[in-house]
Amino acid sequence: MTADPVSTQPSPVLPLGIGEPLLVVRDLTKYFPVKRGVLAHVVAQVKAVDGVSFGVSRGETLGLVGESGSGKTTVGRCILRLIEPTSGSVEFEGEDVLALGNGDMRRMRRHMQIVFQDPYASLNPRMNVGTIVAEPLIIHGGMSSNERDARVAQLLEIVGLSPDYRKRYPHEFSGGQRQRIGVARALATNPKFLVLDEPVSALDVSVQAQVVNLLQDLQEQLGLTYLFIAHDLSVVEHISSRVAVMYLGKIMELAGRRELYADPLHPYTRALLSAVPIPDPTRHKSRIILSGDIPTPLNPPSGCVFHTRCPIARFPICRDAVPPLIEHKPGQFAACHFAGEPIAPPATTPS
Ligand code: SF4
Repeated sequence: MTADPVSTQPSPVLPLGIGEPLLVVRDLTKYFPVKRGVLAHVVAQVKAVDGVSFGVSRGETLGLVGESGSGKTTVGRCILRLIEPTSGSVEFEGEDVLALGNGDMRRMRRHMQIVFQDPYASLNPRMNVGTIVAEPLIIHGGMSSNERDARVAQLLEIVGLSPDYRKRYPHEFSGGQRQRIGVARALATNPKFLVLDEPVSALDVSVQAQVVNLLQDLQEQLGLTYLFIAHDLSVVEHISSRVAVMYLGKIMELAGRRELYADPLHPYTRALLSAVPIPDPTRHKSRIILSGDIPTPLNPPSGCVFHTRCPIARFPICRDAVPPLIEHKPGQFAACHFAGEPIAPPATTPS
């Protein structure tokens, strides 16, 4: 008789990185209410993020990947409180970020900054580059205008742009240069932690590599810690120390980069990786095609949220029991009742 996979599972532990944790996120949720009628009654909740936990160690890059609608960007914004989470906790250097008042949160934001996806929309077209990069310095105060000018020149140099560009406007720059300006702005307050929200998705492939290399160099020079959000698994593999894979607001798998790419345990991770092209015509890999589209987070599937598309789902367990994120191998966590099982047609059909 096969053991019940739910009763034999070990208790979940928090997937922290190796080394001192800089950021610890516990059971983070963000539900967006759907309101209807003149009285704006809440008739439903969009479960954008649903019980996400992880740690990021000082100096590491945690890649956060998933399809559009998986909740990865919402996680990044909740950590910085650009949107308020519904519940959960976020600790930065041991301090409870979600408990901070406005003044303390402003102080905290010096240490936690964001680079946005779209370098065209994220820079104010009416401001020159000098003003854009100086804006965080003006908000946080404590510098004379001469000191700010010197800092802006230094920041532009750090990101590989000439300090002479200060008087120019965003429309005079290419996408890659604009993203460098976005990075300079994020670095203005000397942060320790950056949320990089799809920082290269809007750029040409040739420029993507330059910006990723710049981010890696800056990390080394300045001792930065990154949460790198992306939908492109190849980019994430290049820059991350560990990778978390999200689906419908939950983490499906979280592991060291090598382990995740060499031996993924979750069927969703396997399907995503099977779609990544290999730059070697002599090697062949069979693609795992997932049926259907990603379901709506307004009404996510019961049990395992992936069960409606999973090629190895078994019923009723996958439909009824939520699989916790369990450490199946050292440092490799997966939320699946049958983690690591080979992909084969379902053994039973829904009853
Ligand atoms: Fe989810 Fe079940 Fe598929 Fe695992 S086997 S991913 S628990 S549906």
